[in-house]
Amino acid sequence: MDEAVKNDIMSYSPTISHYRREHAPNVLYLPTDLTCQAMYDSFHDKRLKQSLESCSYSFYNKKLNKMNIRFTKLGHELCERCREAEIHMKLANHVVQTTGESDFLEEGYPEADRCADSSADDEEESSVNPPEDCVKCLQWQEHKNVAIRSRCEYDRDKTMFNGLAVSVDLQKVIQLPRMEGFKEVIFSRRIIAMNETFAPLGGQKKGPTHAVVWNEIISGRKACDIISSFTQNLLVNKDQEHILYWLDNCSSQNKNWDLMLHMILIVNSSMISTRDVTFKYLESGHTFMSADAFHAAVERRMRLFNKGEIPTYPDFVNCIKQANGDPEPIVTSMEYNDFFEPTFHFKPSVISRLKDRPKLANIKTVKFSRGSYEFHYRNDFSTEWKHCSVFTNKQLKQIRKNSFDFKLTLKYREACTGIEKSRKDFILRKLCSLMPAGKRTYWQDLPEVEVAEEF
Ligand SMILES: [Zn+2]
Ligand SMILES: [Zn+2]
Repeated sequence: MDEAVKNDIMSYSPTISHYRREHAPNVLYLPTDLTCQAMYDSFHDKRLKQSLESCSYSFYNKKLNKMNIRFTKLGHELCERCREAEIHMKLANHVVQTTGESDFLEEGYPEADRCADSSADDEEESSVNPPEDCVKCLQWQEHKNVAIRSRCEYDRDKTMFNGLAVSVDLQKVIQLPRMEGFKEVIFSRRIIAMNETFAPLGGQKKGPTHAVVWNEIISGRKACDIISSFTQNLLVNKDQEHILYWLDNCSSQNKNWDLMLHMILIVNSSMISTRDVTFKYLESGHTFMSADAFHAAVERRMRLFNKGEIPTYPDFVNCIKQANGDPEPIVTSMEYNDFFEPTFHFKPSVISRLKDRPKLANIKTVKFSRGSYEFHYRNDFSTEWKHCSVFTNKQLKQIRKNSFDFKLTLKYREACTGIEKSRKDFILRKLCSLMPAGKRTYWQDLPEVEVAEEF
């Protein structure tokens, strides 16, 4: 029975989420429109039809949890490290003091920019059992303090940052077509759509959200695709003098040397006139941002759209356009030739000899400024800036040439990823028959390839 349930669960092809926190790399995700109950019902039916033994709902559910499979949920997510620490502290009777909200007020943050993180409310008043030698407690204390510090910094940037301040996040697993109620649709290998969202932090200056969207038939979800989506956002905001991106700390693609090199080069190029771009990172597990709120709005819009049916990718793009009003979101639907691969790649040997070398995992802030090809970073939000060179001498020589044109070094895609014939045939045969006739053309026109690139 164990094996039968496992195979059934795997038949939904749960996907690894590249942008989850690094300490939970084995977690797999299923799309939002699937529920454990629906999966169990279908399993149970199938077994009965084949006159095979079935199992209870709770057995199925337990197996799903044991396999580390989750359903993508939007909104506040609980932090695993905090939960583990909470359990440890209860068991060991340890109490840990973390930096309270009041400490930040004393540092002179204006009243209006007060730390609004609800998780900062449960600070301990007194420590009755200071666990000076408990590694678990000390590590958690550091984690919690960083989480509070970065949240306060985020809240402060809402009003204090002098320029465009947005949070950036990729919307979690969206599969198309979405036609709730039809098992055939939910249970088949659909196409994955991407929505890299750049949402204003809020506060006093609230501009439009910018959604950069594409799907796996156009391009993938690799580091260069994320770099291409950042570039789209920079091009839309190319006249902003100062740009600030708040990112989650989980995605390896948000902390990637090729992305850093690309940022240094684009801010020094004629592609944009921006003077500086800053990256700031939230602590893993405490990464709720304005972009997540926008994703929740998109999800709501999708449920209302055409009775919850999103037959095609253009319908999905429309849902994003209508996700919220005042101001309406700007939507850039990426074509394959908007994607590129950078030709400047990071060589680890450049920094390996440095005594004090930057470790991307520890970095909290990075700043890319026009006029400098160096990498400027901070391991906290208030410590001194550090800097180092991240280009090889050969690269620098090329960059400094008068004739150097950064845009010409980008290798743009010459074709889309496409879809394998067998997969397309399945969608046409099984799914398109459930759609209004006018929606089938989109699927019929998808460009076929022999072997699709690895996603
Ligand atoms: Zn936490
Ligand atoms: Zn402890």
